Amino acid sequence: MKAGGLRAYIGLGSNLDDPVRQVRRAIVELSSVRLTELASFSSLYRSPPMGPSDQPDYINAVAALDTGLDSDSLLAELQSIERRHGRKRTGKRWTARTLDLDLLVFGDMQIDSRHLMVPHPGIRDRSFVLYPLAEIAHDLEIPGMGPIDRLLESCTSRDLQKLPSDDC
Ligand code: ADP
Ligand code: MG
Repeated sequence: MKAGGLRAYIGLGSNLDDPVRQVRRAIVELSSVRLTELASFSSLYRSPPMGPSDQPDYINAVAALDTGLDSDSLLAELQSIERRHGRKRTGKRWTARTLDLDLLVFGDMQIDSRHLMVPHPGIRDRSFVLYPLAEIAHDLEIPGMGPIDRLLESCTSRDLQKLPSDDC
């Protein structure tokens, strides 16, 4: 890890315009964010959409970064990658998107500002976040939520499908 850097976990999701490619490209782009190194990334997973069901399934993954950026700068970098993937913000939650990048965990920090909540409040009940996160960080203690294995115990993976590595 870079001196003074923090470990951050990023949730990736896409359900438009060749989602597997969108997610793979985004992982490469995360590796070239300034002052940041890509430490690892999970397999790709397929999950049914949250909210409106008249949209395609999602492809999800989680990446681990070591970064010297502060949380606001990292969020700005994530949003600039989303824009490069043609993400259009509809103002509505949970609608189809080419790429969604969420800052899941940022070191041991707990942030609750107008535009950033960390750890991301959706972590605890979203199998498409918890399972890929646990794959690359099985010992993780999520600030304010507890150990990841405890969260996994109360979160079913019924609708989640891990893609074979050939498809990733
Ligand atoms: P969602 O991911 O819930 O569908 P968006 O990706 O459109 O929604 O994000 C909406 C807003 O959520 C962003 O403008 C951002 O400021 C805010 N936000 C709050 N906490 C986070 C976080 N941990 N990671 C990413 N965005 C966040
Ligand atoms: Mg988002």
